[in-house]
Amino acid sequence: MCVILYNDQFVARKEGKVDIEDRGYQFGDGIYEVFRVYYGKVFLMEWHLNRLQRSINELFLTLPYPIEQIEKNIYALIEKNNIVDGTVYLQITRGASGRNHLFPTNTNPVLIAYTTHLKREEAVVKEGIKVSLLEDIRWLRCDIKTLNLLGNVLNKEKAHQEGSKEAIQHRGDIVTEGCTSNVFIVKGGVLITHQADHFILNGITRMYVLELAAKLGIKIEERNYTINECLLADEVFITSTGAEVTPVIQINDHLINEGKPGPITEQLFSEFENEIKRMGMISK
Ligand code: PMP
Repeated sequence: MCVILYNDQFVARKEGKVDIEDRGYQFGDGIYEVFRVYYGKVFLMEWHLNRLQRSINELFLTLPYPIEQIEKNIYALIEKNNIVDGTVYLQITRGASGRNHLFPTNTNPVLIAYTTHLKREEAVVKEGIKVSLLEDIRWLRCDIKTLNLLGNVLNKEKAHQEGSKEAIQHRGDIVTEGCTSNVFIVKGGVLITHQADHFILNGITRMYVLELAAKLGIKIEERNYTINECLLADEVFITSTGAEVTPVIQINDHLINEGKPGPITEQLFSEFENEIKRMGMISK
């Protein structure tokens, strides 16, 4: 039977009841994290917990209990649900209170977490994907991993209707990120991605890939780049916890690298894969 984490209790999914005035439900007043599980172990756990803590701080939320206990509970949840290859979704809201925009004074945060099974082959498209270019319509604190995802949802849906797997979003001329991923381009052997500021979520996979690239001696530039630079790039790829390193081979009607994944993308892809395989060889 599938078990979820409800605050600090492990309960059957149908027991996980959310109040109709939970602020996450009414205002999107909460934060979340998605953890990737390979071989029953959480990939880059510390990085995700650090980002979780940052999101909490930025929204003046409080953790319902210490982060060390949250970490233990995540592992317990993985064990209880026998997750070998999958994800853990965890969210914390400001809690339930009579509807009022002001922060409630005596409400406890509500934490829920659940697991999914996910096979790498289903999430990662090695041969590359088509994406749509769409105006970024989100608010100006995209660096916080909040439950407010409507801008992302609308653009992801629009991209889907255009036959694309993802949207590359831009503010005016500047490319920001995907709806559920970060975007990288390669030009003349240089790896370029938007700097980690308020306009993007600093993806865990983004940071990890930058670390891998540095180890491989690839030159990196974290800066604003334009739509034109993206269209004229030698290679384009996206990164996320689920999609890992996924090549982009088409943007709207325009082919990138003649519709094939490029060499630096493939190098990063296989380095990423090797790291995961190494994880499988280390005991828990
Ligand atoms: N940007 C956005 C808007 C996202 O939703 C995600 C995925 N949650 C990412 C980037 C990638 O982040 P991560 O590598 O931590 O999954």
